[in-house]
Amino acid sequence: MTLLGAGRIRELAQALDLKPSKSLGQNFVIDPNICTKIVRIAQVNADDIALEIGPGLGSLTLALLEAAASVIAVEFDERLATQLPITVAHHFEHPENLIVINQDAMGLHSLPIQPSVLVANLPYNVSVPILLELLERFPSLRTGVVMVQAEVADRLAGRPGTKEYGIPSLKAAWWASVKAAGSISRSVFWPAPNVDSKLVSFTRRDTPGDERLRIKTFALIDCAFAQRRKMLRSALSPIFGSSSAAEEILIRAGIDPTLRGEALEILDFCAIATAAPRDFLSKEL
Ligand code: SAM
Repeated sequence: MTLLGAGRIRELAQALDLKPSKSLGQNFVIDPNICTKIVRIAQVNADDIALEIGPGLGSLTLALLEAAASVIAVEFDERLATQLPITVAHHFEHPENLIVINQDAMGLHSLPIQPSVLVANLPYNVSVPILLELLERFPSLRTGVVMVQAEVADRLAGRPGTKEYGIPSLKAAWWASVKAAGSISRSVFWPAPNVDSKLVSFTRRDTPGDERLRIKTFALIDCAFAQRRKMLRSALSPIFGSSSAAEEILIRAGIDPTLRGEALEILDFCAIATAAPRDFLSKEL
């Protein structure tokens, strides 16, 4: 197996007459050591079925194929999705271990086999919704490592009380424990992006409740952070009708109504959802 270096990436791009698309976040990794490192951090092993979103020209895909039993690669760009099996067949002796799906990962509802690990250099403009959707739709995904824009990584792995903490931190925490897993230099990409990149790793955990509770909890999180500088009793008044109604529910949930959303953990938002009237989202549910 030879991984793809800068020269081979440029050759492939030239052969496809590929002008990397900004809107699709096409910044390709040209340093094979980074791909090996990501696969190592993700602890991918020979039993794993790896899911990769946005394989691009295949740098990370090849490193994944070397470690996993098989790789499912979901690529939106048709030219890249068509080229990928050809590239893999040139560089890897078991190209049959790769399944390529030419589809938008947003709205991916089913896969031919159930993946165990997510490893991806995600398209940056849609990284949070893709990650949250995958965690929701594919419970077989137990662990993963994703590369995202540095600020997004900080938000996903944010701790309560910090300025990074917010909607992505709390929603990701419903599904998994998320940790920072290192910075990536701009120089490992072609073209070099104009933002910094970081890795985050996640390990799935038991969710705090069922789907009904999740929908209510997520609605409360969205409402609390729509006006994040406000105390919870006024930030949650749109959803409960008034700040006095919100205050009553917060007290019943054991939460100080003068706190801001950024002080609360996911279980605190679940407690508010549980203390709220049963039908508080009835129109939406
Ligand atoms: N994994 C490759 C690498 O590290 O070199 C490429 C990563 S590049 C940051 C993001 C990739 O995601 C591109 O190949 C792009 O075409 C693809 N992409 C963008 N939006 C997508 C979407 N909604 N669904 C699936 N793939 C997408």
